[in-house]
Amino acid sequence: MSLIVVGSMAFDQIETPFGKSDRIVGGAATYIAWSASQLVQPVNQISVVGGDFPQEELDALAARGVNLEGVQVKKDQRSFFWAGRYHMDMNSRDTLETQLNVLADFEPVVPDSYQDSEFLMLGNLAPAVQHSVIRQMRRKPKLTVLDTMNFWMESAMPDLERVLQDVDVLLINDSEARQLSAQYSLVRAAREIMKMGPKYLVIKKGEHGALLFHEDLVFVAPALPLEEVFDPTGAGDTFAGGFIGYLARTRDISFENMKSAVIVGSAMASFSVEKFGTTRMKEIDKSDVESRIRQFIDLVNFEIQLT
Ligand code: AMP
Repeated sequence: MSLIVVGSMAFDQIETPFGKSDRIVGGAATYIAWSASQLVQPVNQISVVGGDFPQEELDALAARGVNLEGVQVKKDQRSFFWAGRYHMDMNSRDTLETQLNVLADFEPVVPDSYQDSEFLMLGNLAPAVQHSVIRQMRRKPKLTVLDTMNFWMESAMPDLERVLQDVDVLLINDSEARQLSAQYSLVRAAREIMKMGPKYLVIKKGEHGALLFHEDLVFVAPALPLEEVFDPTGAGDTFAGGFIGYLARTRDISFENMKSAVIVGSAMASFSVEKFGTTRMKEIDKSDVESRIRQFIDLVNFEIQLT
């Protein structure tokens, strides 16, 4: 049940059509850890933060079963900062600012105590840094999953192409899938992307759910129709945490089980957007997660009589 999570731990500033946040704690690996730790513990975290990152946040993660041995604290530097603005549909956003700060020269180190981990979740980070973690693993993990974003396609495409050759599953959103493959049809995009390395591909479509591809197989998962979406930031990472957390818990990496993992990921993401930042992820417990998964089952369950 052992899982390594790699990614940014950050400060975010978010604008939606309905409000603006102060600098709040975010980051890909922060969201992934809050989500995955609902399903599997410990979560072996690898990241870097500056001296400005709140100790209470680190303590809260540790109390939730997140092992922070692989998180470097650079006391005299500043944490990664990202600012984004969502459009009216809350599905698309513009990056207003990316300050790499501590991420600019981050050299991750996989602690010895993480080496026997079977599952590796490479959250959003420079592709070369993601690759360095793969190369440090003495034994190939049972499953390696990678998340990325347009920022890296624009600034580090050769590195991204290289790391994609060494991962089993790629998680990206629909616009990123189109950008990566230069194909508009998501079916064609999936075919092209799977030629780049990953045997499985999850395309996230925000409030329209997610698609799972493998060879000629496709599975579609809905998103929970919510009356109010407060802050979609981190929804993709929370999805990733639920997806890998479920696979690490069940230790079954078949396509059939990945379908369930996509539903668990979707359920976790549906919590994350209900409040700003990681607030909602800190409130929920196992019974909330179970009843949300049940709602998803009801959402897609129907009987049909074909005459
Ligand atoms: P998501 O909404 O799931 O795509 O992820 C949003 C999170 O990704 C935010 O909390 C940001 O701190 C983080 N993030 C944004 N840009 C980057 C980047 N270039 N590298 C690493 N993390 C990033």
